[in-house]
Amino acid sequence: MVNFPDHVRPLRLSLRLAAACLAIFLGSVLPATAQRRVDYEVAFPNAVHHEAEITATFAGVPAGAPLEVRMSRSSPGRYALHEFAKNVYNVRAVDGQGRPLEITRPNPHQWDIAGHDGTVRLSYTLFGDRADGTYTGIDNTHAHLNIPATFAWARGMETVPVVVTFRKPAAGWRIATQLVPTADSSVFTAPHLQYLMDSPTEISPFALRSWTVPGNGTPYTIRLAVHHDGTEAELDAYAAMAQKIVAEQIGVFGEPPAFDYGTYTFIADYLPHVAGDGMEHRNSTILTSTRPLATGAVANLGTLSHEFFHAWNVERIRPASLEPFDFERENMSGELWFAEGFTSYYDDLFLRRAGILSDEEYAAGLSGVVNTAVNAPGRAFFSPVEMSLQAPFVDAAVSIDPQNRRNTFISYYTWGAAVGLGLDLTLRSRFRGITLDDYMRAMWVAHGKPARPYTLADLRRVLGEVTSDTAFANDFFSRYIEGRETVDYEALLARAGFLVRKANAGRPWLGAPLAEQEGRVTVDAGTLIGSPLYVAGLDAGDVILRIGDTPVATVRDVEAVIAARAPGDTLPIEFEQRGERKRAELKLTEDPRLEVVTYESAGRPVTRQMREFRRQWLASRAGR
Ligand SMILES: [Zn+2]
Repeated sequence: MVNFPDHVRPLRLSLRLAAACLAIFLGSVLPATAQRRVDYEVAFPNAVHHEAEITATFAGVPAGAPLEVRMSRSSPGRYALHEFAKNVYNVRAVDGQGRPLEITRPNPHQWDIAGHDGTVRLSYTLFGDRADGTYTGIDNTHAHLNIPATFAWARGMETVPVVVTFRKPAAGWRIATQLVPTADSSVFTAPHLQYLMDSPTEISPFALRSWTVPGNGTPYTIRLAVHHDGTEAELDAYAAMAQKIVAEQIGVFGEPPAFDYGTYTFIADYLPHVAGDGMEHRNSTILTSTRPLATGAVANLGTLSHEFFHAWNVERIRPASLEPFDFERENMSGELWFAEGFTSYYDDLFLRRAGILSDEEYAAGLSGVVNTAVNAPGRAFFSPVEMSLQAPFVDAAVSIDPQNRRNTFISYYTWGAAVGLGLDLTLRSRFRGITLDDYMRAMWVAHGKPARPYTLADLRRVLGEVTSDTAFANDFFSRYIEGRETVDYEALLARAGFLVRKANAGRPWLGAPLAEQEGRVTVDAGTLIGSPLYVAGLDAGDVILRIGDTPVATVRDVEAVIAARAPGDTLPIEFEQRGERKRAELKLTEDPRLEVVTYESAGRPVTRQMREFRRQWLASRAGR
């Protein structure tokens, strides 16, 4: 996901023309670099068993050194390692004359191919059975391809134009992708490797809706390709809501991004056999969910809203730390609290502004954000910037050893959304007529539109410029972004007539979920620092035998004892820990968890000023 020049054009014809001309003039002395090109062909003869047959032809390979072909270890928009080489087998290579070439393996991700004649044709079988934004899912319903999980590539050929031919598994299926179309509906191009890798592709009998949005000069086409098992009417209703969300987002920035090739494509799979995900790309997004449109439209729109906002925030307003994206390693950025977190703040906000959520529903959505920012123990360990740096360990990362993340980690999505909410409400309260929308637009003008990747210092500087108050920007960043403080959500949300209150006021809690199996009640997760179970010395896996005078056989037994007590009460607890029977004093505390509700539902008066503040914040901006 590098930043591309403003006008990227299909290269296939001009490349062929250039190569032909050079061939005529230079004959046999044609340097290898003159006709460098990469061709992929992918077919699905064994789709029911989740296999693709892939041939990659690298032409114009410099003579001498072996060609180093690799599978990616990471995928754009993901920050952990995913080791895509694990699903590749039957690898073989021939040269331009079809002669077999020897392959050596210097590491698990790489195939070195020596002795070629300037052309290497590599073939392999790919297994893929997970349709989402990171992996590849092939079956009898579709071929859903995330490109880093699918195509091997060659070092030294990263800037070479690419041609991809998809052999469709079934007649009548279509192809949805941000790759550049050609006259042949099965053949697409990419200007270089980074664009290819950024271009997930869905081949299936999907339904398509499209509309246009005004651009600078020519309008852009927005396509919504949805592979689902619902009705046409459900999809029409969904597309109408998607169109509203797109209009709200353009209203914030004042213009859509300059989509390459004039088109943005939502590629959605709403099917029982996909894995839920949403993954942004430069001119498209993957949206996968098991929620059908009939019952899951609003939740699915939340993801759609999130990913479309990324077309500005992360795809074009781009952290320098992710530039260029490195497919050979994990990618680390200290700015994910902004790139992901502010995007999370905005995704539901657009659903409210588009009239899809009510004030009450929007308030309920803020509960988790505010509660986490205020109560999560992780705040004692890391700042939002430092949480962002943890992404390679948490972003769909796989490990078998347990971690203490319940105590030490707060998702940069959630905390970042809380910072976004806090900054928006602070700006609206302190600076007349200045909002987070103005800040996002300023970042767009300073860094997104001119493709100038930003640093943390840029984020701070632009906030100072938007507010004309450098001291405010410095203070906000040092306390809430590089520091670990939280804003006063209760006071700020009260200005909009939103109430922050304890969700279970006056009721005690334990501080960890419990599970029961065959008459044994166990602590089901690490206990939270400072919570009653933690202080009493219990941790994950411990078996609760007796609480107060009550022998414990079910979770209900524990709940009944706790419900009859008050915060501050102390009672004995007996438990088994690593095979040892133990006894401790359990001192109950009030459940600290917070919720956000409207003043209306709390029976509090909503003043004229509150109504006006709320209107300015939550009203539609589409068409402004
Ligand atoms: Zn995101």
